[in-house]
Amino acid sequence: MSIKQLIEAPLVVVTNREPYIDERSDHGIRTVQKAGGVVSALDPLLQDIGGQWIAWGSGNADIESSSGGKRQVPPDNPRYTLHRIFLNQDEIQGYYAKYSNQGLWPLSHMLIERAQFSRRAWQVYRIVNQKFAKRASSVTPERAWIFSHDYQLALFPAFVRRTRPDVAIAHFWHIPWPPYTIFRLCPQHPEILRGLLGADVLGFQSDVDVDNFMNTVERTLKVSVDPENKTIHWQNRIVHVKSFPISVDFDNIQELVQSPRISRWVRGIRRHIERRDQILGISVDRADYTKGLLPRLEAIKEFYTLYPQYRERVTYVQVVVPSRTEVAEYRRLYERVAKKTQEVNGQFQSSTWIPIITLRHNIDRPRLMGLFRAADFAVVSSLVDGMNLVSKEFVAAQVDKRGVLLLSETTGAAHELENEAFPINPLDPEGFANTLHEALSISADERALRIARMREHLQKHTIYDWMADIFITLKAAAQSYV
Ligand code: UDP
Repeated sequence: MSIKQLIEAPLVVVTNREPYIDERSDHGIRTVQKAGGVVSALDPLLQDIGGQWIAWGSGNADIESSSGGKRQVPPDNPRYTLHRIFLNQDEIQGYYAKYSNQGLWPLSHMLIERAQFSRRAWQVYRIVNQKFAKRASSVTPERAWIFSHDYQLALFPAFVRRTRPDVAIAHFWHIPWPPYTIFRLCPQHPEILRGLLGADVLGFQSDVDVDNFMNTVERTLKVSVDPENKTIHWQNRIVHVKSFPISVDFDNIQELVQSPRISRWVRGIRRHIERRDQILGISVDRADYTKGLLPRLEAIKEFYTLYPQYRERVTYVQVVVPSRTEVAEYRRLYERVAKKTQEVNGQFQSSTWIPIITLRHNIDRPRLMGLFRAADFAVVSSLVDGMNLVSKEFVAAQVDKRGVLLLSETTGAAHELENEAFPINPLDPEGFANTLHEALSISADERALRIARMREHLQKHTIYDWMADIFITLKAAAQSYV
């Protein structure tokens, strides 16, 4: 059954980031679309079935491009309505930069010392969640389905529920859910839980997250949860709490990397590499402290130290994309990565070879996937990561089955790929270096076999399966409701 057939009610998608951003440049206004991830999977769905999408209107030309806070998208062939929530500077600071990204983000990733909460930011977070809910309540058709997302909108489900008991809500939490002992450090943790429990279906990336969440609810709100059926009785309703590991559009990535243009480009890279008997490694991350960028550079340094035979041979390309630059800590991290890279390069480079090449800008999706196809190995070294889509994209792009994947054990993706990927502990530089050596030493046949197994898994667990599972669960929840 297609996803379209599964959806039996009008659909409203709610995310912090919008699918289309209007940006003013010297050449006038242009509409930018974010590639990859959940936005690019939900956008074609709404284009197909119609519906509505509510998001923060963050583009600097969003206001003038909208009418009454609405814009029909895609601009060249309008298929659904994008409702933009406009935020002033105080709201952006309190809701987004502070409470979400300096509070809930680090705490959920168990980086306690980085977490900062303030009551002022909390008030703003609440107000902005209310704004989203108010808009949703007014534009959502009778008995529609709402699919809301993530830690920026934790209070949204309960706010909507108050005024719209007729709608069915699925809320997906994309980042990890930490153990109770950690989450309780959020001063407003009971309110966050009550907010989320307004949903009918609560989705997490893994069973570990589900168990942590159930435990947090039980201990905080003193309600009895059913760990076997993964349900919570809450305010005369049943909330279904389930894991839905998010994934990638496998076929689309395969097609992208096999297009004539990208195939040519990849062949060019391979010729260059092989002529020099080189090995090409890649990593792709936002400049975020959860990604373990600095420990990874330490491990790379260790690798060249312990295994000098790879000097002049292994070239490692790190794509580091600036992220959340409105937060000072993120800007500092970016600078520290640059400094550490210089240090490692300074130690090992020769007149003909640079160990680490840094790409600091957003690479367009076809080329990024092409780099994955061309690489001999990819490294994902997150300290903690809800899922990590990069690891799955690498596997999907590896149509020539030459590459190996080094994958941090503390990512959601490791639950699915741990048998064929090479597991690494991001905080063990020597172990990391040994594993990289081991991974580069296996035969071409074994590499092909490992990647083929991972590809088989991902082909059966795509982003569309993820969506379908959520909608099937929501449908069952909505039916039990009437
Ligand atoms: N990405 C991209 N352009 C870039 C770098 C990254 O489109 O230059 C994409 C990447 O392909 C992936 C997403 O950003 O789809 C990152 O997702 P992931 O789950 O790995 O980490 P997150 O950034 O969501 O924490």
